[in-house]
Amino acid sequence: MAATGESVVHGSKARPQDLPSVDKLLRLDAAQALAAAHGHTLVAEQARSLLDHLRVLALAGGLDAGSVLPEALAHELATRVQARLSPRLRRVLNLTGTVIHTNLGRSVLPQAAIAHLTAMMEGPNNLEYDLAGGGRGDRDSIVEGLLCEITGAEAATVVNNNAAAVLLTIAALAGGREVVISRGELVEIGGAFRMPDVMASAGAAMVEVGTTNRTHLADYARAITPQTALLMKVHTSNYAVEGFTASVPESQLAELAKERGVALATDLGSGSLIDMSSYGLPKEPTPQEMLAAGCGVVTFSGDKLLGGPQAGLIVGSRELVGKIRKFPMKRALRLSKLPLAALEATLMLYLQPELLTRDLPTLRWLTRPAGQAAQTAQQLLEPLREALAPRYAVTAEAMLSQIGSGSLPVDRLPSAGLAIAPLLPGKRGTGTALEALATALRELPLPIIGRIADDRLLLDCRCLDDAADVLNQLAALRERITA
Ligand SMILES: *Cc1c(COP(=O)(O)O)cnc(C)c1O
Repeated sequence: MAATGESVVHGSKARPQDLPSVDKLLRLDAAQALAAAHGHTLVAEQARSLLDHLRVLALAGGLDAGSVLPEALAHELATRVQARLSPRLRRVLNLTGTVIHTNLGRSVLPQAAIAHLTAMMEGPNNLEYDLAGGGRGDRDSIVEGLLCEITGAEAATVVNNNAAAVLLTIAALAGGREVVISRGELVEIGGAFRMPDVMASAGAAMVEVGTTNRTHLADYARAITPQTALLMKVHTSNYAVEGFTASVPESQLAELAKERGVALATDLGSGSLIDMSSYGLPKEPTPQEMLAAGCGVVTFSGDKLLGGPQAGLIVGSRELVGKIRKFPMKRALRLSKLPLAALEATLMLYLQPELLTRDLPTLRWLTRPAGQAAQTAQQLLEPLREALAPRYAVTAEAMLSQIGSGSLPVDRLPSAGLAIAPLLPGKRGTGTALEALATALRELPLPIIGRIADDRLLLDCRCLDDAADVLNQLAALRERITA
């Protein structure tokens, strides 16, 4: 290295012997500062792997002499240490237009939930400790009261996610026995969660009734035998059968179940706790409606329309929820204290329904008027045009958002955003140019995720609370595009 006194000619190549030893590299002031911040172990490990890498290059005659200068080595070492310490889980901006996006972590927690979660994780808490009596407590009791109050249920319990809630409900109530389900409701949610497989995993025998498009009360009635433990309804959240169709409402099934002494469970999937149609959104069945119709157990997700953390919520009769809670599998599927804290604070928001469209991000975004999204798009239009000129043309346009996660893909919400098209002579290279732009957006410090449709990249502004999150990154975007 230059510190040895040898002169380095610009453009010449470094030899392996020009590289310093690990010790010598670590004695540089910049390396000492890194070690003071991160400890010797990590910095030494990165110094070693950096020198190994450079040695290979030097042996091949491909290492520029400038790369072995102390400043260059120190800079490279700092970059490597930083890269080693950058988390894989990163915040991103969801401009896909799908509000509850499973690949982007579904619901974003309300501030109240983040605050409660953080406060509860900073020290010990009474997760399973009865502060009144001083003895052992039950973690379910933290949210059971709230869930019962909001849904009208007699009892409630919570597990890791709704898939676990469905599995546990079937295993606890119908393991070793039969479950009757309509052929029209043999749902696949995605990620290999398919009703027939869940039944098998739960150790229950599935008895299919009816047809894909039509199932009648008599079909259920005929299928009930002494072996039947459960009638199961599944909300067909991600698809719709249209045309000549019939399904049996929960209220009728509840009567049949009662008459024949079997249980009735409904998996709602999303299960909003409020009437979505009062906000002008597509109607979703609520757990309270299902319970009022006579269902013994209702299961739904914590991080879909409810807008909270990942969780599986089980509400129902004292008897059935009691059985579910005591079933050994419950212990393996129980909710951790982190989401439990977030869930409690999220449910508290439902005690103040007027605040929901302001404080619950999922509902705020779902109810955001297209006009507001259009305003955000206007704020971004000129700066984005400048950043992408002359390679791309940008226009502000009306577009349609989706609710996402277990809602019908055909239900669209009027929205607005930016449409970006490559400026090319002819159409050749459009795909490549769009991919290059999408990649550049993903590589930003706060990655921006849009969607490509009809030869354009769309940035839906519905879920963008602060235009600055995009504006602050336009210089970096311009650099990447013109590089
Ligand atoms: C989403 C969904 C599930 C699974 O819920 P997770 O919380 O993702 O585990 C189960 N059933 C239905 C009908 C769903 O829509």
